[in-house]
Amino acid sequence: MTQRPPIYVTRPHMPPLEDFVPYLEQIWESRILTNGGHFHQALEKALSEHLGVPHLSLFTNATIGLVTALQALRINGEVITTPYSFVATAHSLLWNGVKPVFVDVDERSFNIDPAKIEAAITPQTTAILAVHVYGRPCEVEAIERIADNYNLKVIYDAAHAFGVRHKGASVLRHGDLSVLSFHATKVFNTFEGGAIIAPDAKTKHRIDHLKNFGFVDETIVVAAGINGKMSEICAAFGLLQLKGVDEALARRAAIAARYRELLADVPGIACAEAWPDATQNDAYFPILVGPAYGIARDALYAKLRAEGIFTRRYFYPLISDFPMYRGLPSAARANLPVAARVADQVLCLPIYPDLTLEQVERIAALVRGQQRTP
Ligand SMILES: *Cc1c(COP(=O)(O)O)cnc(C)c1O
Repeated sequence: MTQRPPIYVTRPHMPPLEDFVPYLEQIWESRILTNGGHFHQALEKALSEHLGVPHLSLFTNATIGLVTALQALRINGEVITTPYSFVATAHSLLWNGVKPVFVDVDERSFNIDPAKIEAAITPQTTAILAVHVYGRPCEVEAIERIADNYNLKVIYDAAHAFGVRHKGASVLRHGDLSVLSFHATKVFNTFEGGAIIAPDAKTKHRIDHLKNFGFVDETIVVAAGINGKMSEICAAFGLLQLKGVDEALARRAAIAARYRELLADVPGIACAEAWPDATQNDAYFPILVGPAYGIARDALYAKLRAEGIFTRRYFYPLISDFPMYRGLPSAARANLPVAARVADQVLCLPIYPDLTLEQVERIAALVRGQQRTP
């Protein structure tokens, strides 16, 4: 029997190696490795155009981007956020000495539930930090209304939302700032990387200073900035990756469509619904494993693992269950019943451009076959 290679939840999309060599030659020639060189400038311009956003500042990763976005808006006190995300969302608040206040999510979108935000606002609240989970847009209009009423800033962790459009325009245009991730596991990767999308040139300039130690010129430092710059090698790779991203998204869409077909009638398995008014980027393929499935989510996870299929429980545990958060009053599971249930049922199935439809069929067949027969 031949051993099948393992299938992981994701696998980075890569261009042919030989296509990258000319970019490397140019870097070796110029000896410009970082500090806003040619490729950095070119990628900022190319991404602004591709995504349809006016002002974009590249970063070394999204986490430093989130920390810097909060700095740029001078956020302090308390910030309302979601427990249903990757830990970096809330960690960025702790790095700024800000207290996270967790609000439950909506059961269809898995995004922060705007109907529950107002009850969590206190005189110390300065902002809302929301996440477009799995690239499905938050209820941006409702969040904006609350922010306007209470004079709060809005920051979107858009790590999953590369290329997502909402009502015909980029979802990244909403809020005061949005932050993208170009990590290896994301839809568009630059090995490591990220970006902040700003609404105007003035804000972008401030962010550009903050990501370069606060330097404005050779002798003037205006803030205690950080080193958040993207290197030339990552920026060059991004330029090359951008050429293949539409094809990669089309492959993802075909895989997601096949999963939906194959899993449509499995009792107890719910695929995330298609999202109204938004294009999907199929960054993830989450399913919920409900009681009607017969075995628990963790049992299905283990059985697939035994077959060499490595799914992930994004997002379990909830951020609010980690030791640095669980003492907060808002972290109590009683305050977050929807997020707690989703975290206990969710399983993200493998999805990446190189996954074949035969592999999708095998994974779906295993999910179907795990049902307990009555
Ligand atoms: C991946 C991710 C991040 C962190 O991105 P990095 O680029 O790895 O720092 C932040 N938030 C969410 C929701 C993510 O999925």
